[in-house]
Amino acid sequence: MRPHTLPYARQWVDDIDIAAVIEALRSDWLTTGPKVAEFEHAVADLVGAKAAVAVSSGTAALHTAMYAAGIGPGDEVVVPAMTFVATPNAVVFQGGTPVFADVHPHTLLVDPQDVAAKITPRTKAIVAVDYAGHPCEYDTLRTLADRHGLVLIADACHALGAAYKGKKVGTLADLTVFSFHPVKHITTGEGGMVVTDHSEFAAKMRRFRNHGIATDHHQRTQQGTWYYEMVELGYNYRITDFQCALGLSQLRKLPAWIARRRTIAHRYNRAFSGRLLFKPLAVSPEVCHAYHLYVVQLNLDEVPISREHIFRALREHGIGVNVHYMPPHLHPYYRRWLGSRVGTCPVAENAYARLLSLPLFHGMSDQDVDDVIAAVHHLERRYAG
Ligand SMILES: *Cc1c(COP(=O)(O)O)cnc(C)c1O
Repeated sequence: MRPHTLPYARQWVDDIDIAAVIEALRSDWLTTGPKVAEFEHAVADLVGAKAAVAVSSGTAALHTAMYAAGIGPGDEVVVPAMTFVATPNAVVFQGGTPVFADVHPHTLLVDPQDVAAKITPRTKAIVAVDYAGHPCEYDTLRTLADRHGLVLIADACHALGAAYKGKKVGTLADLTVFSFHPVKHITTGEGGMVVTDHSEFAAKMRRFRNHGIATDHHQRTQQGTWYYEMVELGYNYRITDFQCALGLSQLRKLPAWIARRRTIAHRYNRAFSGRLLFKPLAVSPEVCHAYHLYVVQLNLDEVPISREHIFRALREHGIGVNVHYMPPHLHPYYRRWLGSRVGTCPVAENAYARLLSLPLFHGMSDQDVDDVIAAVHHLERRYAG
């Protein structure tokens, strides 16, 4: 029995990170300063994109990407039925309509065949969600998007540092979104970024995060002018320099952190393969997985113990399991708004009843990993013989 519950995810902030934040706090620029651009360049370089626009959250980044894609009232955007609510919400922010596509039963990644079936003359974009850190089938999604003239947006909030067929996440879609929430690979407290190879998209997004104003404060200071024009409607989605200083410091540790996540995931894979209680998600040999989450699906057909029961039993062992996610179309808001009923995405709905995320973060000790494995094996003996 553990003295404290092991969380499913946790940030890591060390003295070097703290020193970087203090240095930014002592500088002339708290926001819209040089650290923002430096962080944008560092992330763009890391993921192989030409441009990056940093904003105040992953959700703001999704909204900004929807704006760049030109989503507006009457437009439909195909969104996976297995994601965080922020993905469809960003479509709604712009007055568009999210249309949910079902997922593959073994990976819970969006099923390109169902995406194709959900495309109508009103469809304007497709969102791919690299669920758990496993990149989607981008070859097929790209072909679909090109055939129908759609913008391909990657919600890669789980997949910073992942790759598909040797190509980095960040180069696979027209717009790719990352989050720097504390549970994600690296953190800025709150924060997000959109990367793109299209310079018009990048320019539009820089205005959107700053009220729709054509120049920012830093540029006007350099030009020695007060004059500015607001040319479109935007928001204040700016991120601060001290957050970006934290992000830059965290980013240096990303390769080692992803390696640690992979080591832990591989230990889980070995410990849990061929077990009756649950099955880990399938991993394609064509990807480099970023392992944001370690998701398993309970084998409710063979071991008829409810997810709630297993969830509570593991929590009682001090293992902070979680559920990612209830399909967005099942939330009351979307049921009211879209009249979406159970049955529209049967694979995602069926998976939801079986889902469990086990603790996975780079700061876990070997003992933490052993505790998770021991708690699971204990339940196996109890329920699955
Ligand atoms: C975390 C997350 C978001 C939202 O990011 P925030 O930074 O929390 O706003 C969006 N989509 C997915 C899939 C996420 O995991």
